Amino acid sequence: MIKRDDFVPDEDWERFRKISKNFPTPNIFVDLEKVRTSYAQLIKAFPYADVYYAVKANPGIPIIKLLDQLGSNFDIASRYELDKVLSLGISSDRISYGNTIKKAADIAYFYEKGVSLYATDSKEDLKNIAKNAPGAKIYVRVLIENSSTADWPLSRKFGCHPDMAYNLLVMAKEKGLIPYGISFHVGSQQRDIGQWNDAIAKTKYLFQSLEEEEDIKLEMINMGGGFPAHYIQPTNDLSEYASEITRYLEDDFEEIPRIILEPGRSLIGDSGILTSEIVLISRKNNTSLARWVYLDCGKFNGLIETLDESIKYPVVTDKDGGKDGEVILAGPTCDSADIMYEDSKYKLPIDLKSGDKTYWLSTGAYTSSYASVGFNGFPPIKTYYYDTKAIYDENNNLIKEI
Ligand SMILES: *Cc1c(COP(=O)(O)O)cnc(C)c1O
Repeated sequence: MIKRDDFVPDEDWERFRKISKNFPTPNIFVDLEKVRTSYAQLIKAFPYADVYYAVKANPGIPIIKLLDQLGSNFDIASRYELDKVLSLGISSDRISYGNTIKKAADIAYFYEKGVSLYATDSKEDLKNIAKNAPGAKIYVRVLIENSSTADWPLSRKFGCHPDMAYNLLVMAKEKGLIPYGISFHVGSQQRDIGQWNDAIAKTKYLFQSLEEEEDIKLEMINMGGGFPAHYIQPTNDLSEYASEITRYLEDDFEEIPRIILEPGRSLIGDSGILTSEIVLISRKNNTSLARWVYLDCGKFNGLIETLDESIKYPVVTDKDGGKDGEVILAGPTCDSADIMYEDSKYKLPIDLKSGDKTYWLSTGAYTSSYASVGFNGFPPIKTYYYDTKAIYDENNNLIKEI
């Protein structure tokens, strides 16, 4: 059985239980103090890097405001995220347009708002940037193919072969843009630190050949995200990632260029706990051993990363510690895809009843922002954020002082 205190220490747990007690389920509570701690750990591990928080991981305003205070920059994927971040008074020179898939009109919108840093991985997009964001700084995303060791891979769809990255940076210069750097993303929840070694080696080759052959001196490496949150499958600590990655950089570069990191999951994941009530428990025949446990939260309402059982969240209950048995965990909607875990053989206490609660740990990232608007009428899961003084909603409205 999963041990809750391997993931959330007693003190934080007691606090969470007290704060979240009377709220209707399903809900997610995000501990802002934990985000603060993760940010401090990240800065300590990578003192030489500039952080661009990947807003998509959790776009709640309390998170953006906190990270703004702590000095983070922001990686933005759409004009809607841009509007949100700008509306909080964050200046456009702290924003990177990191999505390689964008409309020409949106590039123009970002440019008009003062954003000058753009990712690309294709000719068409680069042409659109040259036309709609003249003089912008360009970084090209290279394809990382071997990301089978990432639990949520971001391969294939994004990035281009290094040879094409080379051509795009040459073309950027010809079109009056600033060829600024290289980016990659080794896949989210990447458990193999060696993946950064390969990516950095590709980057080094591009830095060198562009300088030697084209007199283009790149200045920046954007190493994306990929750092882990704590789920069931163990990973190394962030400090381990940092010391290895720093060594790769030092081995490949005489002087380390400007380094950008775009963490999402590792910064926010561990700060959230999702509470979901058991709606019904059943068996499909009289002798089957596994129980179906249906919850009031599912794949369409915050738990989309259980797709293919990719991300295995630790799930705990108030009855943990006694006898347990195999369960299939499923959501409340009328879609048979709404099953979170069947092959993963989760075990929960045998005395669980309808009305009992399940707590899904490490659910701060990639949960609520993925929820459907109202499949079967179920409203999107609510997220609450708390610090030492109060609870806030996703728009930073005060819900309750504590
Ligand atoms: C999603 C995303 C990230 C964040 O990745 P994590 O693995 O959650 O840290 C960073 N950069 C880009 C471009 C992304 O799309």
